[in-house]
Amino acid sequence: EDGETLLEVNNIEVIYNHVILVLKGVSLSVPKGGITALLGGNGAGKTTTLKAISNLLASERGEVTKGSILYRGEPVAARNPAALVSRGVIQVMEGRHCFEHLTVEENLLTGAYTRKDGGAAIRRDLEMVYDYFPRLRERRKSQAGYTSGGEQQMTAMGRALMSRPETILLDEPSMGLAPQLVEQIFQIVKAVNEGEGVTFLLAEQNTNVALRYAHYGYILENGRIVMDGPAAALRENPDVKEFYLGMS
Ligand code: ATP
Repeated sequence: EDGETLLEVNNIEVIYNHVILVLKGVSLSVPKGGITALLGGNGAGKTTTLKAISNLLASERGEVTKGSILYRGEPVAARNPAALVSRGVIQVMEGRHCFEHLTVEENLLTGAYTRKDGGAAIRRDLEMVYDYFPRLRERRKSQAGYTSGGEQQMTAMGRALMSRPETILLDEPSMGLAPQLVEQIFQIVKAVNEGEGVTFLLAEQNTNVALRYAHYGYILENGRIVMDGPAAALRENPDVKEFYLGMS
């Protein structure tokens, strides 16, 4: 139903290596069908927040020491990342992480590995991904490692879509991309959101572009949410204008 909250982060604290306090009580909620942006500068804690949600902190010696994270009202704690994927939540990591030696199409197909439905459905979804990312159709036979940064970002996003997710956690999609490509990536996020109903939580340093495409934004500074609101209101906020919009 509309307005339903899919993901709820309640006052979480994250500590790395038992001593480094990085998140100091972060709360946010992600409504079904929306694009929610988590904004903030380098080192503010955006990636840490996404990794806390998808249970990827353990391998970095990080730990959620306070608060709770709920997906559809159920705690995600102690679930491994694969279990969360099977509940429909998938993270696209910063830096794309394609399988460099596989072709673009093989990369996309790896996104379907948890699915139980047959080859015909997977074939159909491959076409769906190519419709959102026409560039990937052209590059489908190319080895992913030899494609451009923008194409690798698209491949990583396309692979996520192949698992038919309910929610995509997208970390810094603009990283290292030319402005025109950044715009293109965000247009595709919007198209997928509207066309497939996929919910997005995206971490982004580029406040300017993120607030033009997101519905709601949270601004993270030094491990704390310092401001949040509808994207249109944040764009007009004098502090946001001065400290964030001028920069990007
Ligand atoms: P970026 O845009 O650089 O990814 P971010 O907002 O995503 O920034 P995080 O990557 O979450 O920020 O980092 C937040 C803070 O936590 C930084 O000060 C960083 O140095 C620290 N940090 C991140 N990972 C670790 C780790 N594995 N061990 C110790 N400290 C870490």
